[in-house]
Amino acid sequence: MRPLRTSIMINLVLFGPPGAGKGTQAFKLKAHFDLVHISTGDLLRSEIAAETKLGLEAKSIMDAGKLVPDHVVIGMIREQLKSNPDAKGFIFDGFPRTTVQAKELDNLLTEYNTEISLMLALEVQDDELIRRLLLRGKDSGRADDQDQRIIAARIKEYNDKTAPLIQYYTSQGKFKSIKGVGAIEEIFQNLVAEIAAIS
Ligand code: AMP
Repeated sequence: MRPLRTSIMINLVLFGPPGAGKGTQAFKLKAHFDLVHISTGDLLRSEIAAETKLGLEAKSIMDAGKLVPDHVVIGMIREQLKSNPDAKGFIFDGFPRTTVQAKELDNLLTEYNTEISLMLALEVQDDELIRRLLLRGKDSGRADDQDQRIIAARIKEYNDKTAPLIQYYTSQGKFKSIKGVGAIEEIFQNLVAEIAAIS
């Protein structure tokens, strides 16, 4: 007989502007809490590398530093939730980025009888973000990390369309702000402390 599932899932939204360190911290949190990490940016880059129709459509939008349409990323999230039925929880990295996406994520998680536990926002000032992204662009080869104008467009998209989600999650009592500058390990321990406080 299968044991009854009594544990509660930990579902985290790792939030912050491009270059805030979401990917780095998601990698560590995934290992620490045994969660499934879903990065819509990584999924989109895989589609581009595989030269799928979706990837070809997304590429020009991403290269311009704009957000791809909501239904595209929501479809990807739906697939990821479906293909990880035994997950102990999820880290959503780079998603949601609009209010439509946040509402749809809530709806999807309700279908699975679960919900977002916490939205952890990494706070980093713009000049530091630009410095980090340009540095990353040298190693990663990511076109959107190498051009100051594209970086500026991404930060603008974040401020216009994504930052309002702080209000969305605050009204649900789930928003936590974390200083995203300093030693990676120290930032990680601060994130772990916030998660431990709810679980
Ligand atoms: P990232 O790796 O999270 O910085 O994402 C790289 C690019 O992928 C973004 O600049 C967007 O063009 C696109 N992208 C990633 N996630 C989303 C999302 N949730 N909504 C819309 N566009 C996204």
